[in-house]
Amino acid sequence: MQFYAQYDRVLTAEERSFVDKARHFCAGAFSSEAHDAYMRGEPFPSDWYRRWAQEGMLGLQARREDGGHAASFLCKIRVAQEMARHSFAAAFCMNHHQGSLTRLSQTGSARQKEELLPGMLSGDILATIAMTEPGGGSDVAALTTTATPAEGGWRLNGTKAWLTNGLMVNALIVLARVEGADRGDNMASFLVRLDGASSVTRREIMVPGARSFRFAEISFEDHFVPTWALFVPPGEAFKTAMGGINAARVHVAAMCVATLEAAFAEAVAYCDRRHAFGKPLLGHQGLRWELAEVATRLEAANALVFRAAECVERGEPIVTLAAQCKTFAVDTALWGVDQCIRAMGAVGTSGAHRLSMLQAEVRMAAYGDGTNQMLLDRIGRGLAKDYPVASGFDHQ
Ligand SMILES: Cc1cc2nc3c(=O)[nH]c(=O)nc-3n(C[C@H](O)[C@H](O)[C@H](O)COP(=O)(O)OP(=O)(O)OC[C@H]3O[C@@H](n4cnc5c(N)ncnc54)[C@H](O)[C@@H]3O)c2cc1C
Repeated sequence: MQFYAQYDRVLTAEERSFVDKARHFCAGAFSSEAHDAYMRGEPFPSDWYRRWAQEGMLGLQARREDGGHAASFLCKIRVAQEMARHSFAAAFCMNHHQGSLTRLSQTGSARQKEELLPGMLSGDILATIAMTEPGGGSDVAALTTTATPAEGGWRLNGTKAWLTNGLMVNALIVLARVEGADRGDNMASFLVRLDGASSVTRREIMVPGARSFRFAEISFEDHFVPTWALFVPPGEAFKTAMGGINAARVHVAAMCVATLEAAFAEAVAYCDRRHAFGKPLLGHQGLRWELAEVATRLEAANALVFRAAECVERGEPIVTLAAQCKTFAVDTALWGVDQCIRAMGAVGTSGAHRLSMLQAEVRMAAYGDGTNQMLLDRIGRGLAKDYPVASGFDHQ
């Protein structure tokens, strides 16, 4: 598709085949089942994780020797975009698991991989990252979950909140403070199996319209974590967790752009078909200009995402660009999907179209991986460094 051509041009032939596979996988039953579930107020069927795994897609970025495809970042976001065109929530959730799997493949020990990797590749073990707590999310450094040394491992106590797929995950990467470690902030991360343990309790966080995220709060009461499960040692885990945040922001932004592109295409097709006052809706200048505005901002968001994604691919530092990319893509998607719904008249809000689902799901992009306020603050702090006066210009 022309809209995504700049990405697809730089992918390898194998990577382009993953994008094609994702496009075919997501059109049809996947798309309609996700929408049907939304209309019933239910999450999209979990069986799709296994089917996606059978296509080999959960290990997209895992190392080849671990059974993955070692795909590039650009390939990963293009595959996610194909899914986000049908359901932002499904794309976000599948990619959340895939991200944990990739981290395990790239940095896990042999024992950790032996315990978790086969199950994670097949979709039998679903994992997510557990940082946020009921007491706060933006201020990760204030977390209070503790890991106390015990014979053969640690005992975990505390509560994590807003966990993606929290209702059904059976493994977590938990960020916790190790008691008595005395190394920097003492934060370590652990690969934690849940497996119906009585020391673990879950509670659904109900978000109407966004149940496909399966949000939950998970609490630990003296939950045992064996020695082999230490993923990142005390004093290094916070830095490691933050290290991946810029790529995650670009990734979320890429999915927002794809969700808006899909909503926009649906709205344009409808406004071309539907007549009022003797001509198609698109024939009326007032409405046409509104949609033209959406198209323009959509293209700008797409260009920003591509620029940031290329920087991630090259390993360049992109703190400011990633923050700009996410805040602009999220706001453009929220505003743009709403404009599309309005352009279609009342029918745009109804279950006859997918736009109300896309709107309810993409709205959730505004919080994870940095809220707008946090992102703008990040951009603001770098202004003088990022936008210096060019040498040779006189200024006071
Ligand atoms: C779709 C989705 C998926 C998620 N998945 C996960 C997951 O899998 N694992 C996980 O651990 N967490 C997850 N989260 C939680 C997410 O990381 C938090 O929602 C996010 O960090 C914000 O934290 P909070 O919601 O507690 O808001 P708070 O931190 O309480 O902030 C509340 C408000 O105050 C503003 N604010 C806070 N600090 C400042 C400041 N310094 N300056 C200006 N304004 C400020 C914020 O911008 C926000 O508007 C997910 C959230 C969503 C929506």
